[in-house]
Amino acid sequence: MNYVITKLLYEGKAKKVYETNCQDVVVIEYKDDATAFDGTKRGIINNKGIVNNLVSNYFFKILESNKIPTHFIEQIDERKTAVKKVQIIPVEVIVRNIAAGSLCKRLGLEEGAILKRPILEFCYKNDALRDPQVNQYHILALELATEDEIKKIEEYSFKINDVLRNYLKQVNIDLIDFKLEFGRYKGEIILADEISPDTCRFWDVATKEKLDKDRFRRDLGNVEEAYMEILRRLGLDKKVNKFNSELKGE
Ligand code: UDP
Repeated sequence: MNYVITKLLYEGKAKKVYETNCQDVVVIEYKDDATAFDGTKRGIINNKGIVNNLVSNYFFKILESNKIPTHFIEQIDERKTAVKKVQIIPVEVIVRNIAAGSLCKRLGLEEGAILKRPILEFCYKNDALRDPQVNQYHILALELATEDEIKKIEEYSFKINDVLRNYLKQVNIDLIDFKLEFGRYKGEIILADEISPDTCRFWDVATKEKLDKDRFRRDLGNVEEAYMEILRRLGLDKKVNKFNSELKGE
């Protein structure tokens, strides 16, 4: 299908969202801009937008084949993807398998501590309040989502964890933790936003090397290389090369 971009709807920290000639469809464009610590740290990660577009679409296709409904429709070019226009639920869902990041600070855990079972957390999506953690009572009281919607979101989130964790293990990556966003589309809850090295922690199984945005957050160096390594492990690097040579007319 040929979606025609009609206007810019919204520009976020890492993505732009465009309206199209089809009212149920928007186009997302992934940027190279990177922010951390509530936007106080800023930078550019070269080709990040290309990597995140390919990786996220790849994961969403795997999830669709595992009966998780997602917003994915089709990739348009290197940085753009057509997705179903959802009403985003203003709750970020974080799933954790191994202790890292804010969890270590909050609970005094050692980074890398194995959690006996996955942890699911909710944060209220609100930049001004710096996305505070909430529980389902807050979500119901603030009418951010209904009880049935929360149930569906929890069920999908744990299933997504199982699917992606098993999948990534095969390419020697441990899925440490990740963030999800869901939306309402025609009365149903579907997975939206992205799943990429920007929104997940990926560690090499053997060396524990970080292959995600923590390299940018903590100035660990080789940031672009880490994003490219994820592309390589997923077998998606050939797609970029193919696209580049098509552009050059080779
Ligand atoms: N995360 C995200 N966006 C956010 C907050 C967290 O994508 O606004 C992801 C983050 O990349 C990590 C997971 O969610 O994979 C858990 O993040 P954490 O709560 O430890 O926060 P952080 O320490 O990353 O600020």
